[in-house]
Amino acid sequence: MKKDEAPVMQGRRRFLAGSIATAFAYFTGLESAIAAQESTKLVHIAIVGSGSAGISIANRLAKALPNAKLTIIDKKTDHYYWPGLTLVATGLWPKGDVLPGKNTDFLPSGANINLVKEMVVSYNPEQNEVTTDAGQTIKYDYLVVTSGIEYNYEAIAGMDVNAIGTNGLTSVYHSPDMAEKSWQAISEYSKKGGKGIFTLPSTPIRCAGAPLKMTFLTLDQLKRNGGFDKAQMNFYSSTGGVFGLPWFNDFVINRFKENNMDVKFKTQLKSIDIAKREATFSTEDGTGLTTSYDLLHVVPPMRAPKSVRESDLSWKEGGFAGGGWLAVDKNTLQHVKYDNVFGCGDVNGTPLGKTAATVKMSVPIVVANLLDTIAGKEPSAKFNGYTSCPLITQIGSAMLIEFDYDKNLIPTFSFINPQQESWFAWIMKEQMLKPAYLGMLKGKV
Ligand SMILES: Cc1cc2nc3c(=O)[nH]c(=O)nc-3n(C[C@H](O)[C@H](O)[C@H](O)COP(=O)(O)OP(=O)(O)OC[C@H]3O[C@@H](n4cnc5c(N)ncnc54)[C@H](O)[C@@H]3O)c2cc1C
Repeated sequence: MKKDEAPVMQGRRRFLAGSIATAFAYFTGLESAIAAQESTKLVHIAIVGSGSAGISIANRLAKALPNAKLTIIDKKTDHYYWPGLTLVATGLWPKGDVLPGKNTDFLPSGANINLVKEMVVSYNPEQNEVTTDAGQTIKYDYLVVTSGIEYNYEAIAGMDVNAIGTNGLTSVYHSPDMAEKSWQAISEYSKKGGKGIFTLPSTPIRCAGAPLKMTFLTLDQLKRNGGFDKAQMNFYSSTGGVFGLPWFNDFVINRFKENNMDVKFKTQLKSIDIAKREATFSTEDGTGLTTSYDLLHVVPPMRAPKSVRESDLSWKEGGFAGGGWLAVDKNTLQHVKYDNVFGCGDVNGTPLGKTAATVKMSVPIVVANLLDTIAGKEPSAKFNGYTSCPLITQIGSAMLIEFDYDKNLIPTFSFINPQQESWFAWIMKEQMLKPAYLGMLKGKV
């Protein structure tokens, strides 16, 4: 339904129920949940995607609206703990540590949740329906799009994801399997050395720190395994920098240079000859660069999943239109045109934050604003764009960088200086974030 068409739904309250509800709301902040609950017994909310954002939202909605019908649409059944992939690809964690279970393991038992193991192929927000790859049309009252991100490996000619782990080809992003295979190649390289090239595309990517963590951890493994003196490491960025915050950008570039790395800007990976171990880059001066390598870390360009990109729900103009990102208001996370549609997670066309940390902080905002909308009110919660990157600089050391849309540093812990490497920030990344993430999935934190 389009903006301004939403029916203002009002429920009738008996005095006693109202008093109890008001007291409950005071302590829980769920006033809108109660209003929504009373007025929309049969409300049907469809959630597209069962990753970090989708599961977390389903848990919170199941608690806030026990009478609502929830439908989660996604073919993927295994849950990935994506933030752990950098540790798998650099030999610090076994693959099993990023496979915490099936998505269903994280959903509340007994809740009115219908799982549809199909993929959405088209959105029809005018009719409040989506169509799946099995030809099923699913109608909804409210829709939450949490379908994540699409890796565009095809944009790199000659790239074959099945070859990751062979001929020095690595890519942490693809999957737990390919992170594990990347470690096989990095492990070999860390002993022998040679030319290593780490890349960065020009599109928004999930976890902007991951390509840097891969580089720092490979440097550390080279030093530990004897290959450092025989290695020539390079970082080729498609943009004019390596990280969005100037102080950290300079810090990383300086640290790379201290390790005798060559850092190039506006140098974009265009094609690979996997068998020959040769990569070709476009360069700012137009001459291009073809070079051999012993190790190549590919970060694919990224965009919104095709079904969103090609739908009426994506941005049609402005900076987010190119990637076909979901057109949501950056503060309310409500769709800019259809007010019964919300977005959460990597799919959102917002200025910052394709991280699990952003998911954690924005899920309560989306749920609160959805409840407001169901209750016929304006969205009241505002998202500040929180994102976070535990930037690993070596094994046992990291910087915990947390910032908002305005790129202000907003540290959670007053005793951690984000501009200083610390063992505590490393422990956060290596040991504390996964339990916190699993708690988030279940809607607990
Ligand atoms: C290597 C790596 C390191 C990272 N490190 C960190 C870190 O240190 N800290 C941090 O905070 N974040 C990190 N992240 C980012 C974080 O993991 C993601 O931002 C977060 O998981 C995004 O959640 P999501 O729900 O938007 O997407 P996902 O968890 O990917 O879920 C999207 C779901 O949508 C489904 N889907 C897609 N298309 C459709 C469709 N058409 N129909 C139905 N379902 C569909 C998919 O199958 C998937 O299950 C990292 C990510 C990677 C890859």
